[in-house]
Amino acid sequence: MKKLIYSLSLILVCVFLSSCATAPKPTPRVTKDPTPPSIKRSDIYHVVGPGETLWRISKTYDVPIKRILRANRISERAILQMGQQIKIPMATDPKPVISLYPSSKWRYIIVHHSATEVGNSLAFHKAHLKRGWDRGIGYHFVVSNNSSDRKEGQIEATPRWIKQQDGAHCKASEMNTKAIGICLVGNFNNQNPSKKQLDSLNYIVKKLQDFYNIPTSRVLRHGEVHGVITDCPGHNFPWQGFKNRLD
Ligand SMILES: [Zn+2]
Repeated sequence: MKKLIYSLSLILVCVFLSSCATAPKPTPRVTKDPTPPSIKRSDIYHVVGPGETLWRISKTYDVPIKRILRANRISERAILQMGQQIKIPMATDPKPVISLYPSSKWRYIIVHHSATEVGNSLAFHKAHLKRGWDRGIGYHFVVSNNSSDRKEGQIEATPRWIKQQDGAHCKASEMNTKAIGICLVGNFNNQNPSKKQLDSLNYIVKKLQDFYNIPTSRVLRHGEVHGVITDCPGHNFPWQGFKNRLD
């Protein structure tokens, strides 16, 4: 009996020891969530462009309308004036705000350069009004370079896009009635479009192609429209590379 008790105790001790040896305490794995990329924000001043509303500005800089109103001590009923400078508190870098309107009107996209080294939607609006175009800026979108208060690659939608009106950028082949006109700021006979401009152009053209079902064969440079004699958007525009990225 004594022998049996001794053997049983020995087995129990062994089991205990072996369980201690084979089941080490699991070490907790400490995993860190990746730190979210910090979004830089700062107070900026923004010059109101043609057709811009508080809603559009709020979306562009990711700042609530109420905060913009408070920072500028203006009421909700205030109507922004083109050219007015307003403070945007804690603004992010501008984001593209591309409104898409159901329509069967848009069957082509035409790419232009401004043939000027400087400019933005507001500057072209004033220039086109002076030329006698009563609706002002003839393009639907402008992609900025770094020549104005707009950031390089910033996309501005013009009143003609927001109101879904005909363009005034390509009379030939009646393109004004069926083509979305996009203008990159710059003279690409003398300089090259920047990478940021080309990336923004790619972004907006793809978005418009998807929504309006426009094939890449109908994305045209101004100079290839039937009946047009122009080098727009300039000899330095990397047209083939741009088209390849759309496919
Ligand atoms: Zn053109």
